[in-house]
Amino acid sequence: MSARLLDGVAVANQIRAELAPDVAAFTSRAGRPPGLGIVLVGADPASEIYVRGKLNSAGAAGLRADLERLPATASLADLLALVDRLNRSDPHDGILVQSPLPAAMGEDAERRVFDVIDPRKDVDGFHPVNVGRLVQNRATLAACTPSGVIELLARSNVPIAGSRAVVIGRSDIVGKPMALLLLHRHATVTVCHSKTVDLPRVCAEADILVSAIGRPGFLTREFVKPGAAVIDVGTTQVTDAQIVDRLFAAGSPRRQVFARRGALVVGDVHPEVAEVAGALSPVPGGVGPLTIVMLLKNTLIAAQQRAGGAG
Ligand code: NAP
Repeated sequence: MSARLLDGVAVANQIRAELAPDVAAFTSRAGRPPGLGIVLVGADPASEIYVRGKLNSAGAAGLRADLERLPATASLADLLALVDRLNRSDPHDGILVQSPLPAAMGEDAERRVFDVIDPRKDVDGFHPVNVGRLVQNRATLAACTPSGVIELLARSNVPIAGSRAVVIGRSDIVGKPMALLLLHRHATVTVCHSKTVDLPRVCAEADILVSAIGRPGFLTREFVKPGAAVIDVGTTQVTDAQIVDRLFAAGSPRRQVFARRGALVVGDVHPEVAEVAGALSPVPGGVGPLTIVMLLKNTLIAAQQRAGGAG
C-alpha cells in the first residue's frame, strides 16, 4: 500500500482562488487593499526565505505587504516600539513578527511581543485574547499552521468528527492550537510531548496523526496505524549527509536535491510511513503552503473586521 498524498499546494491554490473576489471587494470598498506589516529582526537565512515567501504571496494575492526590518542588535524595547507603530498604522490590518527573535532579546521576548500586538491585528493568532477565543471555539483569528492542517484534512475528505486524533508537540504556536481545532471539529484528541510514555503505542491508536516536533524522520512505521492520515508539520533544515542517506534511498529525488544544495528540508515523518499510512502530507509541499495562505486569509479577515463588516 502507498499512502495518498495530501497536496498542500493544490489546496492552498484553491483557497487563494476563493479569497481573490473578497480581496477585490474589500479593496474597492475601502479604497485600499488589506495590509500586512511583517517585522524581521536580524538576518537569519531561513527567516529571510520565509519572509520573502510571505511578501511574494501577499503581493500576488492583491494584498499590501510591508517589510519592517530591525538589526539583530535591536533591543526588545525597539521591537515593542515598532509593533506599537504598526498597531496605530491605519493601512496595516495585520502584524506578523517573524520568529525566532535574537536570543539576546531574552527568553520571554516572543511572549512579550505577542502580548502587545493589537488582538484585532494579530494575524498569527498568538495573542492571549485570540488564544482564549480559540479555547472557547469562537476564534476569528486562529494560528495559521494548525488552521491550514484543518483545511488540508477537510478539503482532502479526511473525516475528522469522531476520529481519534493524536498531536505530537505542545507548543503554543502549533501543538496546542492544533489540538483545540481538532477538538472543535469533534475529534477525540490526545496531545503528546517529550515526556509521553510509550509514544509509538499512543500514536498507533490515531486515525489522524499530526507530528509537530522538529526531528527529521523521527516518526517511523511503528507509530502509525495502517490507513491513518499522517500530517507532517515538522520542518528541519538538514545539512548532515548521514541523516539524508539514512532516510532516503540511493538515487531518490530528495538525495539529488541534497547533492545539489548541500541542505534539505526534512519532515518528522520517515519515508517508510508512506507504506503504512492511508494519507500523508509531504515535506515540502504539504503544510507549508497552507500556512502562508491562512496568513493571507487572516489578514483579509482582520481587514474586514476592522472595517466593521463583511468587507
Ligand atoms: P517547539 O516549540 O520546539 O515544540 C516541539 C514540541 O515537540 C514540544 O512540545 C516537545 O515536547 C515535542 N517533542 C520534542 N521531541 C520530542 C520527542 N522525542 N517525543 C515527543 N515529543 C517531542 O516547535 P514548534 O514551534 O511547535 O514547531 C514544531 C515543528 O514544526 C518544527 O519543525 C517547526 O519548524 C515546524 N513548523 C512548521 C511550520 C510550517 O509551516 N510547515 C510552521 C510552524 C512550525 P516538550 O514540550 O515536552 O518539550
